[in-house]
Amino acid sequence: MSVYKCVLFDLDHTLWDYETNSAATLRELFIYHRLNEKGISSFEDLFTTFVEINTHLWDQYDTGKIHKDVIRFERFHKILLALGIDDYDLSLTLSNDYVSESPKKGALMPNAIAILDHLKANYPLYIITNGFEEIQSTKLTSSGIIHYFESVVTSARAGHKKPAKEIFEFTLAENGFSASEAIMVGDNLLTDIAGARNASIATVYFNPNKIVHQEKVDYEIQDLMELKNII
Ligand SMILES: [Mg+2]
Repeated sequence: MSVYKCVLFDLDHTLWDYETNSAATLRELFIYHRLNEKGISSFEDLFTTFVEINTHLWDQYDTGKIHKDVIRFERFHKILLALGIDDYDLSLTLSNDYVSESPKKGALMPNAIAILDHLKANYPLYIITNGFEEIQSTKLTSSGIIHYFESVVTSARAGHKKPAKEIFEFTLAENGFSASEAIMVGDNLLTDIAGARNASIATVYFNPNKIVHQEKVDYEIQDLMELKNII
């Protein structure tokens, strides 16, 4: 047994395969709304633009520069504008469809189930996420992993979002653990890694794409199965 007594997981891009699930949803929207007839030449164009703008908006949200409503109401408007289409009504339709359909997709990151099975046998597991309450619980249900977790802490429930140390402290306090007994696994250097470090919690940076960085991390992995060697 390791020194750790509980494991904290991020959800999006760490366990739930955000990229694959977004792509599947956008492919459906592209066909259903006949976006090729509205001036978007290919699904690939839509997806590339989505990833670029979505990543930027989430970074701004995580750093407190924008309210979550901007993601809800402006994300697809910005995407359409970047693709040369000025149609706010269409953007709202796409936004509503995306927000309702994408969480129903269940693709997980490679080896997610295998590592959860392995860890669950010895440790209580928790989700800490900046995602929105209903959306995150839909994702956990549709991907079939909700039963692995003792609880899901969203920023809405904790009253703070990662990287604030309070959301980590909230999770530990609610479950009776000290910071030295926990380890955080996540894909985001700011929210997950700097955040957990703010709360004096050990960190595992999940870096499947081998991004070069300067952040201080306790452990770094490319595959979730490597957690077996750490925890
Ligand atoms: Mg993440």
